[in-house]
Amino acid sequence: MKVTFLGTGTSVGVPTVGCGCNTCLSTDPRDNRLRTSLLLEKGEHRILIDASTDFRQQALRIGLDRIDAILFTHAHADHCFGLDDARPIMFRNGAIPCYATDVTWDGLRRVYSYVFEPAPYPGVPRIVPHTIDGPFVVFSTEVEPLTVIHGLLQVTAYRIGGLAYVTDCNLIPDEACSRLEGLDTLIIDALRFKPHPTHLCLDDSLGYIERLKPRRALLTHISHDIKHEETSERLPAGVELAYDGLQLEID
Ligand SMILES: [Zn+2]
Ligand SMILES: [Zn+2]
Ligand SMILES: [Zn+2]
Repeated sequence: MKVTFLGTGTSVGVPTVGCGCNTCLSTDPRDNRLRTSLLLEKGEHRILIDASTDFRQQALRIGLDRIDAILFTHAHADHCFGLDDARPIMFRNGAIPCYATDVTWDGLRRVYSYVFEPAPYPGVPRIVPHTIDGPFVVFSTEVEPLTVIHGLLQVTAYRIGGLAYVTDCNLIPDEACSRLEGLDTLIIDALRFKPHPTHLCLDDSLGYIERLKPRRALLTHISHDIKHEETSERLPAGVELAYDGLQLEID
């Protein structure tokens, strides 16, 4: 399975509007972070995790012309505002199956009320909603959803074989931790250095990595507090900052 980081930035993106900090002014492309989203490619199938605010730019950047399914982690703007921009793919290839929990569908129905009207306008996003409440299969790929805590919200993390994607959380409950052992690659939220009420800060993320012991860990949903090169030098072996465009091959 090929994994591509379409975006690795926090909700406001990096550079951040109006900011003149070292990260926002950096010429290192790894400090340029669109909103967080991941693309999985297995055989001819492409599965998107979250449709970020920057989906249009992310799709154009890699020449993405097809998506076969979207898995949503939650309905915060930075993770779902790109659904509308996936319409050219829907107009060409038909409705896209979308997977989310009840909690996330509640949010998506509020944000995208016009998609769910009984007789929607013809130009709206075309989706086939699937509600997940346990492991499911998408194009012969087994997906295990896990609940993590993001302030007051329940967010869905996904384990797919040896890969897990755990974004937007300040707590990974024991139940989810027990399902995140023996991973090849863990992709995990690491917002900044200082603690945050709804996100893991770097020390929190490193604590979970120490506990879960994946072979490789990649940090995502990163703010401008973290500059790629100088922070990378301080990370323990096996832990890296992800960056936009990074690709991995996972068995
Ligand atoms: Zn987010
Ligand atoms: Zn900045
Ligand atoms: Zn969020």
